[in-house]
Order: sequence, then C-alpha cells, then structure tokens
Amino acid sequence: MEKTLTPQTPAAPESADFIRDIVQGDLKTGKHGGRVHTRFPPEPNGYLHIGHAKSICLNFGIARDFKGQCNLRMDDTNPTKEDVEYVDSIQGDVKWLGFDWADRLFYASDYFQKLYDYAVELIKAGKAYVCDLNADEVREHRGTLTEPGRPSPYRDRPVAENLDLFERMRKGEFPDGTRVLRAKIDMASPNMNMRDPALYRIRHASHHRTGDAWCIYPMYDYAHCVSDMLEGITHSICTLEFEDHRPLYDWCLDELKTPCHPQQIEFARLNMTYTVMSKRKLLLLVKDQHVSGWDDPRMPTLQGLRRRGCTPEAIRAFCEKIGVTKANTMIDLSLFEHCVREDLNKRAPRAMAVLRPLKVVIENYPEGQTEELDAVNNPEDPSAGTRKVPFSQVLYIEADDFREAPPKGYFRLFPGNEVRLRYAYLITCKEVVKDAQGAVVALRCTYDPATRGGNTPDGRKVKSTIHWVSAAHGVKAEARLYDNLLLKSDPEDVPEGQDFLSILNPKSREFVDAWVEPSLKDAKPGSRYQFERVGYFCADPDSQPGKPVFNRTVTLRDTWAKIEKGRTPPKK
Ligand code: ATP
Ligand code: MG
Repeated sequence: MEKTLTPQTPAAPESADFIRDIVQGDLKTGKHGGRVHTRFPPEPNGYLHIGHAKSICLNFGIARDFKGQCNLRMDDTNPTKEDVEYVDSIQGDVKWLGFDWADRLFYASDYFQKLYDYAVELIKAGKAYVCDLNADEVREHRGTLTEPGRPSPYRDRPVAENLDLFERMRKGEFPDGTRVLRAKIDMASPNMNMRDPALYRIRHASHHRTGDAWCIYPMYDYAHCVSDMLEGITHSICTLEFEDHRPLYDWCLDELKTPCHPQQIEFARLNMTYTVMSKRKLLLLVKDQHVSGWDDPRMPTLQGLRRRGCTPEAIRAFCEKIGVTKANTMIDLSLFEHCVREDLNKRAPRAMAVLRPLKVVIENYPEGQTEELDAVNNPEDPSAGTRKVPFSQVLYIEADDFREAPPKGYFRLFPGNEVRLRYAYLITCKEVVKDAQGAVVALRCTYDPATRGGNTPDGRKVKSTIHWVSAAHGVKAEARLYDNLLLKSDPEDVPEGQDFLSILNPKSREFVDAWVEPSLKDAKPGSRYQFERVGYFCADPDSQPGKPVFNRTVTLRDTWAKIEKGRTPPKK
C-alpha cells in the first residue's frame, strides 16, 4: 500500500492545513457570505472508528477555529444496513470526543420528500430519466475506462412518461431492481461517475426512521450534495475517494439551480499500521466473533479505544499531529500510542501491580508486621500527593525481575544481588526455592532495615529498582493484555486470494491473574493508572467490587519517541 508515514509538524494555527487555507481564503473574498458551516456525515451502519475521529476533529475543529458551525448528520439513505443502535452510539462517541453539534442533529432521511421533489425537478428539466435496464445491463452499457458507454434505450423517454414512472416507483408498483432513476449527463464522459449515474433505486425495505413510507431511496451522490445544500453547508469535506465524484456533486447542484452551492474538498483518509479501518471489516470482526464486540479494546473504534483507556484528549492530539493532506499515507500505530502515553503520563496516577508474580519471603522481616510506606501518586503532578502502601514479610515481584543466571548487563534480582524495592527497602537475594520439577517458586531474601523508603544512608549504589505488592494486602486482579490486531503492519499485505482475516493476530490478547496494591481494590471502571514499570491500564466495566479487571492501554515502551529521535540530526 502507501508508504509509511512521516507526521507533518503541526504548523501555526492560522494556516494549519490546506483546508483551513481554503476556508481562510473564502472568508477573505466573502465567498459564502462570510459563513463557515461544516458537517460530519456518518452513515449509521457501524460504530465510529479512529478514522472518523480525524474527520470529526477536522470538521468540528474548523467550525470552532473560524467561529462557524458544524452539523452532525446521519447519512441514513440505505435502510438495509442501518440501525438506531448505530445512530445512538455515534452521538455518544462524538460527544465523548469533546464536540457539540448543539441543536443541529440532522438526518438525510428527513429530506426524503425534498430529495424526491428535487428529483422531479430534474426530470421536468429533462435532466433525469427512468431506466428499465437491470443492474447487469446498466453495467454493460456503462463502458470502461478506455471505451465510452452506450446510451440506455430508455434515455430519451418523454418527460411525462418519466414523471409517471417515477411516481409509480414511489408508490411501490415495481419490484426491487427493475427500474432506477438516472441522471442524464454524458455516456461518453471520461469520468465514469458522469455516465448517467443512478439517483434513485427501488428498495422495498423498512427504514429505521421513516418506516415503510418510502420504497425508493436516493443514492449517496445525489442525497449528499442536496443535503449539504439544504443545511447551508459551505465546505463539504470528505475523503479522497470522492474526488472523482465531485463533478457529479457540482452537476446536481448546478442543474437544480440551488440557492447555495457548498464546495466539496477532499482529504486523505486515515490508515494505520496493524489496523483495519473500514466499518465493513470491523462489522465482520464483530459478527464472526473474532472480537468480543464493537467495544473490544483491540478495536480501533472509539468505543474500543475508550474501553482500552485512551482519552479523548489523546485522540484529539493525535488527529492534530497527523494533520490533513491530499496524499494517502499509512500512519504508524506507534505514533498513536505515543500520543496516548504523552497524555496518560500527565494524568494517570501511579500504582504498583505485578502481572506475573514471583513470591519473595524476607527472612529477617518480622512475621505479621505491616508498615505503611509513602508512595508518590504522580511524579509529573506534585498536586496528586502521596498514598500509603503496605509492606510485609511476603511480597510478590515480577517474575521477570529475577534471573537465576543473569545475562550480562542484568541488574535486577539474582542470587547474591541487591536491588531496591520501590518506596520500600533494599533487599538481597539469598536463596532460590524450587518445586519438584525444578521451577522457581519463591525467593528468600533479606532486607536492610536502614534503607527504609529506599534510601541508602551509607551512599551505596544499587543499579535497579523493582516494584512489588504485599502478598497479605494485595488484591487479585485480572489484567487483560492487548497486542496488535494484525500480524502485518500493512493491512493489505495478505496472501494471494485471502482477506485480512488471514493476518489476524491470534495472540492479540492475553488475560493474566495479577496482584495489585490494595488502593486499587475497588477501582472505578474507566479509571486509569500507570502501573509502575509495566504500562498504562484502565479499569474495565467487567470489574466487580474487590475483583478489579484492568485493560492494558499501552506499554511504557515508546517506540515512536525512538524513531523520532533517530530522525533528528545529532546536535553539534
Ligand atoms: P468506512 O470506510 O469505515 O465504512 P465510510 O467513509 O463509509 O467509512 P461514513 O460513515 O460514510 O464511513 O463516514 C463519515 C465521515 O467520516 C465521512 O465524511 C468520511 O469521509 C469520514 N471518514 C471515514 N473513514 C475515515 C478515515 N479512515 N479517515 C478519515 N475520515 C474518514
Ligand atoms: Mg460511507
């Protein structure tokens, strides 16, 4: 597919991207009467994803920056694929992302009568006709990129006959697929979209809002420009695949001689490595239960990202960072994760949690004694204060923080070595306890009572600080660890004849039994933490009192920062 991305440096706000430049220019010349009015027009046939967030931030962002307005419009012209469930989720997601359409929530279906009336106008003007060819025949007449199309035998039907047939289409006299209303444009146009495209089709299907009032439904290209016009949109921003449809957008509005004529502007859609983005594919993942639902934390949907622990602020910062261009690129997933970390680093309180526990017994610590040690809640935010963490004789540490035979450069725990327990004491590993199979089951250590709080009064250095949880006080929690949805960075990189399902990562999630410090016992779903040295986590709605469940939002390893550092030329 496209090349892997380099993010654009966010430019000055007055000229942040080419679309804002256009808007700015139009304001100077007074083109749309000095107004700026955009819209975000999702089709309610699925949940919103991070790609939609880019469009939402752009449309609502432009309205905000230029003191204009942005509508939320359900583009609901395809009754068989749409549902109120989606209508509701879309509204919730746009709000969650931090945008407000005030009282301007619209539905393309509210315009069905007007769209119909305008279609009648086109017929009267000799600019549209009812065509009786079936879908195959229409395709066959359309020609190819190198050959012109052939006119339909129904192209020159008299206006009166067209009016009659169109009305009868509406009344439900004809079965699905037997007739369409087509624009009469140019069968020889080099642009296939202009070869008498369909404006209306027959579809005997109930609509989630209009019920059975209609059995003909307008096509996207016709409905969209007219809806924009009816709402007084000034800048109709859409993705690049509609560039070739722009002449049709303009044709409809020109032929209808409408009072206002929005300008369609195209930008590159967001694609991200290791991620599929089309609603069709996401729906397949849900329907075929490759994921647990639209809000599965592995999904790039806003609900998935939210459940995973991403904040709206991080998503907005990401959208700002990637900017808006005319060239299709693939954004590195690590850039998104970088934005998530940057945001969580500032806001997420720290806590200690052990994902793969190894028991440590401190031989010389009094059995049954408990101490409350002070721990810093967020080093990035002094106002977050401190909390008490209980310490006792038996602890859990991360299994990976111990090696019986340490490789070179390993400074954590190994027999004979001393490390610092975060906020607690220095301990030294004395003995390794194994089971009958020879697996390490516990460590026996000693602590130095003079090092309370992790200080070394004698100034001796230890190279490593590890986290821990007191076994007697810790809370058992479920930690859900997520990895990339896809095995390949390029979602299109699939074996011949296969689809993206063939590159799904079978190990994209793993649930482990973790131990967390007692302050997390009743963590509220949605609350976010940095588990020190482990990653950012967010309490899941599946949490029960006393039995929290945490989703790993991201690990702490920032590969993007590394990539970026590698790009910066070294300072002399
Ligand atoms: P999908 O391909 O995921 O089904 P869509 O374009 O059919 O998406 P719509 O509901 O029609 O989905 O999209 C609403 C708006 O969001 C449109 O203006 C569309 O251009 C924009 N949009 C959709 N996907 C992306 C994306 N990946 N990047 C940027 N904008 C997007
Ligand atoms: Mg669409």
